[in-house]
Amino acid sequence: MPLFSLSGVHLKHCKNTAKMKPERIPTPRLVTIPVSMHIGAPALPCVAVGDEVRVGQKIAEAGAGLSSPVYSGVSGKVKKLDEITAVNGAQIRAVVIECDGEQTLSETVTPPEVSDRESFLSALRESGIVGLGGAGFPTAVKLNVPEGRVDTVVVNGAECEPYITSDTRTMLDESELVAEGLSLVMKYLAIPNAIFGIEKNKPECIAKMKRETAALDGVQIRALPSVYPQGGEKVLVYHTTGRVIGEGKLPLDHGVIVINCTTLAAIAKYLRTGMPLVEKCVTVDGSAVKNPRNLIVPIGTSVRDVIEACGGFREAPKKILSGGPMMGVALVDLDAPVLKQTNAVLAFGEREAMTPKETACIRCGKCLESCPFSLAPVAIAKAYEQNDGAMLEKLKVNLCMECGCCSYICPAKRNLVQTNRLAKAALKTYQIKKKENETRGS
Ligand code: SF4
Ligand code: SF4
Repeated sequence: MPLFSLSGVHLKHCKNTAKMKPERIPTPRLVTIPVSMHIGAPALPCVAVGDEVRVGQKIAEAGAGLSSPVYSGVSGKVKKLDEITAVNGAQIRAVVIECDGEQTLSETVTPPEVSDRESFLSALRESGIVGLGGAGFPTAVKLNVPEGRVDTVVVNGAECEPYITSDTRTMLDESELVAEGLSLVMKYLAIPNAIFGIEKNKPECIAKMKRETAALDGVQIRALPSVYPQGGEKVLVYHTTGRVIGEGKLPLDHGVIVINCTTLAAIAKYLRTGMPLVEKCVTVDGSAVKNPRNLIVPIGTSVRDVIEACGGFREAPKKILSGGPMMGVALVDLDAPVLKQTNAVLAFGEREAMTPKETACIRCGKCLESCPFSLAPVAIAKAYEQNDGAMLEKLKVNLCMECGCCSYICPAKRNLVQTNRLAKAALKTYQIKKKENETRGS
């Protein structure tokens, strides 16, 4: 088992928008709401072209098994059921709504009745809430844990990626909701302890959450070093509880649930109001953005509208990211919609977006030193080139969370994360074949 460490990398925080309260943008003319914004089966559209929809109305039912329903954050008329290309290149269905600007509320928006564990989980299943830290895992499924199996909730308030400040704003502006969401999770799931991890570079958030949770039994606020990737699930669990989550294991296997602070606020909001997840706070920043800000936008709003709400571009953008500079995904066009789990849209000009030229590895070992899991990217790259699945397995490439520390620190600017990604796919193929051969041989 590789050692966990406090390695990672020190990044320039660039939290330019940390003091900017989120502002609601004017209702866009059109929204494109994908039915697959979560891990698991896509939701199934339950509206047809021409239907009138209202704010908070369900537009797609959860699919079978792991899934989440989807709701409209605007009122208007369904213009079409479209197929769009997701940021990962997959074709996904989307409901396109022409907004009427009235923002009429759906009569279905009423607070759910919650009195025990089952009714709490059943409400969450209807809420459309997924992990808002970026993962998009359906929250009702994550919290549906066997009774007595979890002793600690770890709250992710690390927000370790540069530029992004949407969680920071939630902790400052909605601290009461965050604390309420946490107490609801602890109460209904009978979890006695919670550790709230916040990086030390957010002293105001630490102070605010300390005040807000002071009356809650079993809750600790833990100031964590500002080292990227502090918010990585396994890293955060280790740094808050000391528990090591090995390869192929989940926090649940170690008695822990990890939940993002903004997800907690969304849970409390839903239980108070019955308004499902229909809008998102997004940090819009980067050298190419004229007026960086935090914005609250209906889910499905195009990146184009988001950028326009910030005064447009200051210079021609060379790279636009959904998410942070370390783990974000490059967007190919401005029509891409804001998703449930989008926490930032960053646009960079020529200088910042420049990709440095790769040179030969100088065997300095910095990539290994910086990896939170002590993985060996150079050895992984070699095993990948040699198509050596057994070695990739031995090197535990599956532990790689694609945080990018190794690529960031590499003086030769090697594309180590990309290689790790490919190596993980190669290992998957190797393991499938190995299993098939074992089955044939048995
Ligand atoms: S950090 Fe870069 S140059 Fe140094 S050993 Fe790793 S791959 Fe080679
Ligand atoms: S991208 Fe993977 S190998 Fe590189 S530092 Fe992060 S976890 Fe380690």
